[in-house]
Amino acid sequence: MTDLHRLSIRELSEGLKQAQFSSRELTEHYLKRIAQIDPKVKSYVTVTAEQALAEADAADAALKSGNPHALAGIPLAHKDIFCTQGIKTTAGSKMLDNFISPYDATVVAKAKAAGLVTLGKVNMDEFAMGSTSESSYFGATGNPWALDHVPGGSSGGSAAAVAADLAPIATGTDTGGSIRQPASFCGLTGLKPTYGRVSRFGMIAYASSLDQGGPMARSAEDCAYLMNVIAGHDAKDSTSINKEVDDYVANLNDTAVKGLRIGIPKQYFNVAGLDADVKARVEESLKKLEEMGATLVEINLKMTEAYVPTYYLIAPAEASSNLSRFDGVRYGYRCENPVDLMDLYKRSRSEGFGAEVQRRILIGTYALSAGYYDAYYVKAQKVRRLIQQDFLKAFENVDVIAAPSAPTTAYKIGANLSPTEMYLGDIYTLAVNLAGLPAINAPVGFAKDSLPVGLQLIGNYWSESQLLSIVHQYQQNTDWHTKRAAIAEENA
Ligand code: GLN
Repeated sequence: MTDLHRLSIRELSEGLKQAQFSSRELTEHYLKRIAQIDPKVKSYVTVTAEQALAEADAADAALKSGNPHALAGIPLAHKDIFCTQGIKTTAGSKMLDNFISPYDATVVAKAKAAGLVTLGKVNMDEFAMGSTSESSYFGATGNPWALDHVPGGSSGGSAAAVAADLAPIATGTDTGGSIRQPASFCGLTGLKPTYGRVSRFGMIAYASSLDQGGPMARSAEDCAYLMNVIAGHDAKDSTSINKEVDDYVANLNDTAVKGLRIGIPKQYFNVAGLDADVKARVEESLKKLEEMGATLVEINLKMTEAYVPTYYLIAPAEASSNLSRFDGVRYGYRCENPVDLMDLYKRSRSEGFGAEVQRRILIGTYALSAGYYDAYYVKAQKVRRLIQQDFLKAFENVDVIAAPSAPTTAYKIGANLSPTEMYLGDIYTLAVNLAGLPAINAPVGFAKDSLPVGLQLIGNYWSESQLLSIVHQYQQNTDWHTKRAAIAEENA
């Protein structure tokens, strides 16, 4: 079969169970595509061919012996932020270029237990700080829709791998938009779950009160399958919530849109810098949802202007604390010939971290330092609470809130935006993490530059099933999610 990469997760699961193809055939098919096509896309940092084939053989044995997990034998790619035992985990940084974790992240362990096959680890912005994946020590990844454009970030490798059909599904993480924005830039569906739904154990920390892992895939249905594997309580993550997990696949329905009240924040559609085509495609998708039975309700999110400054204080503050563990002593990069301990710290950190990471550590350390702590960090925490309250008030009157995922389509590689320009591009995604809410990106068409545009739907806490169902129903009535980049049409 030459078109195994076109099959959905449901089709792959059925095909494997009915022995139409084996996991080994499927895995070899993807490995061949990666070998031939990924040199152009550069989505993988590490390809784990040998391990993948061994896992595929184990899955084939399980498939033969009776009652395997729904996803047994299906390949996936992990963002290189999830620790993988025995395989390099770099977080896109020179600091961890030689780091081999002694244990698996819970997300990775759960994927293995379900019989998923690990194709490899995919590229990302260094320590997940960025919106283009260009800050990776391993170089930029191309957007499959236009290789001279970025796939977004920080989960850009995950998005590019799925959009080029170099993995059927991938894990991502989202601290301020890193699942939704690359999904938007690459024409995919990506879900950022409620804070605490997916374990952060073994997921290299950026900003711990904001970080959350989630699925990136071609459709809401595919995302639901991966959510069923990775969601759930984990005693090893004290912020993981002990709450019953939905069956996200069984919960998909075709009644989610009828009677749905969608909030349209008036501030969001007047943001300076919102591209006219992006606005038009998002509005068309909302019209479609209206035709399908939803009601659009104007709402007021008066804290919108505070999103970017609040996030860009809290996230760097937490990062400066989290990244202090990389000191050249126990693991990671160590400078050559240190003259004393201070020299070891200083040079290991200045040589091991890239410019954007250093900028954030400096900002965060400044915001946390005595004398500035109250004026910056404590104030930002208070504003964070107001932002959350703004959402909770809105949810008294609407079921979900609609927004673009990003104000523009993908940037050109090397566009070299200033840090503030780059940060402003995160305007639509940051508040969701500050409030801990779930949100999903769905592809809703293309701009004049032929690049994908995404609609973001923000839900109330624990509404993952509802968000997946809304997008699933939208995808039953439209075909944007079935469009493939030309490079994905190439046969290996
Ligand atoms: N672009 C945002 C940042 O650089 C979000 C990144 C993320 O979600 N990991 O912080």
